[in-house]
Amino acid sequence: MTALPATPLERVRRHLVGLKMSRALEALDASVRRLEDGELSALELLDELLGEEQATRETRRIKSSLMTARLTRIKTLEGFDFSFQPSLDRNRILALAELRFIERGEVVHLLGPPGTGKSHLAIALGVEAVKAGKSVYFATLAEIIDSLAKAEREGKLAQRIGFIARPALMIIDEVGYLPVQKGGANLFFQLINARYERGAVILTSNRGFSEWGEVFGDNVVAAALLDRLLHHAIVVEITGNSYRLREHAKLVPENLRLPPISAPEKPKKRRGRPPRPKEN
Ligand code: ADP
Ligand code: MG
Repeated sequence: MTALPATPLERVRRHLVGLKMSRALEALDASVRRLEDGELSALELLDELLGEEQATRETRRIKSSLMTARLTRIKTLEGFDFSFQPSLDRNRILALAELRFIERGEVVHLLGPPGTGKSHLAIALGVEAVKAGKSVYFATLAEIIDSLAKAEREGKLAQRIGFIARPALMIIDEVGYLPVQKGGANLFFQLINARYERGAVILTSNRGFSEWGEVFGDNVVAAALLDRLLHHAIVVEITGNSYRLREHAKLVPENLRLPPISAPEKPKKRRGRPPRPKEN
């Protein structure tokens, strides 16, 4: 063993290197100078160095967890203008940001027409979860189905399902924009079934639940999916205008303007119900 360097400062430097505390090492000389000038007490110096190190590590951890979660397009709740979306209950979203739905393994559905902030809110909740140390996986439905189909072709479906279903929060964006290709609904069902009651999910969709048969190209699988995804569910509907089009809404032709999506209801209940008799 090599002998420890003589001065306490040299020894501190060596300890910081050994402990891989690079930020504290960087800040050491300046802090020591302030200690010598009587600006800092020894305890304050310790607090400052450990605080710097801790903050740097936390930033690094969040950055790397965001990458793992595939949250590369960062959105925050602070950056969301609630006044633009009066149909949305701000307190409800802030309550979700406390993340108890993750501990309870609930499914949050964010529904609304394009541009109303569904992905923004889903990502912002994902960012909050990452900050709180929860594992997150973010992908669009199309990406998930593609990756499951690829895994199936390679004979690795079970592993892939295990990988995607593992994080504490799974965010599935854009249910309903693209039609699900043949076999896709089945693969997605296997994932949701593996996940059922094991972890939280956030789904964003521009389509009402009654349209899921059409979205997934299969009424039976859509009903089975809804059965699981509406069991422990929180449904948040946004009925407002597109934020993307806030300055140009009038330029969108009348026939392409989207009606608000139908009220969330399980299709099973709706199907076959006789029309209500007209009141006289
Ligand atoms: P959706 O997923 O509902 O189609 P997005 O969440 O992608 O819509 O929103 C479209 C764009 O508008 C994004 O850049 C998003 O950050 C922004 N945006 C949407 N709603 C708001 C809002 N209320 N406040 C601030 N930015 C918003
Ligand atoms: Mg979106």
